[in-house]
Amino acid sequence: MPVNIVMLGAPGAGKGTQANLLAEKTNLPHVSSGDLFRENIKNQTELGKLASSYIDAGELVPDDLTIKMVVDRLSRPDCAKGAILDGFPRTSAQAAALDETLAETGQQIDVVPFIRVPEEVLIQRLTGRWTCKQCGRIYHTSFNPPAEPGVCDIDRAELYQRPDDRAETVTNRIKVYFEQTAPLIEYYRERGVLVEIDGNRDIELVNQALLGVIPAAN
Ligand code: ADP
Ligand code: ADP
Repeated sequence: MPVNIVMLGAPGAGKGTQANLLAEKTNLPHVSSGDLFRENIKNQTELGKLASSYIDAGELVPDDLTIKMVVDRLSRPDCAKGAILDGFPRTSAQAAALDETLAETGQQIDVVPFIRVPEEVLIQRLTGRWTCKQCGRIYHTSFNPPAEPGVCDIDRAELYQRPDDRAETVTNRIKVYFEQTAPLIEYYRERGVLVEIDGNRDIELVNQALLGVIPAAN
């Protein structure tokens, strides 16, 4: 049976970090809307050009563009077994579109881990985040440093700081999260798929808690 997981949580909660670890352990593909946008920006596609002004301002990219991009990704063969969705859905319209697209192939959302972290911790995490240019692996200058500063442990490629992790943009992204994405917590709770995970502890402990609630990994 396919397994679909939606990682829910504020920017900086640890969704990407945990999705990477879960993808390794479950063999499910990691589908990150932010990574898909960044790839489009890097390759200077039409979508990348349309999306970049929103991303730079810490606003959400419009639903129609975002939904199309993610639905296309989910239609690829590797997602026939399900996916770990990270950063999508972020609005009610996206959540409805996701339900609809999964239903077309008889799939559904099985579990929605909501990674909870206090707001002041989010800012520290985002402003210290460094990401691998090549593989997207996520580090933190103090909380999860690479063995060698500025270099990815996995592929030795260069690490970079995301332009939208500047302090000014971070504040707006957190505000946008509370306004537009936080309502999804109740949406998934009502459907009985939400599981709250305390994200304010070591990466490894959060990962163990997640593995305990994910069907594919049991
Ligand atoms: P999100 O995808 O939810 O925005 P990330 O996974 O990118 O979050 O993590 C944001 C930053 O916080 C990164 O620098 C990451 O290394 C760090 N981080 C993630 N999880 C933890 C944790 N449990 N404790 C401390 N730092 C963490
Ligand atoms: P984070 O991991 O810190 O939450 P992401 O990498 O998920 O950040 O997203 C970076 C930016 O990409 C967002 O601030 C937003 O501009 C855009 N974005 C990503 N996912 C979505 C989405 N589902 N809907 C609209 N915009 C999105």
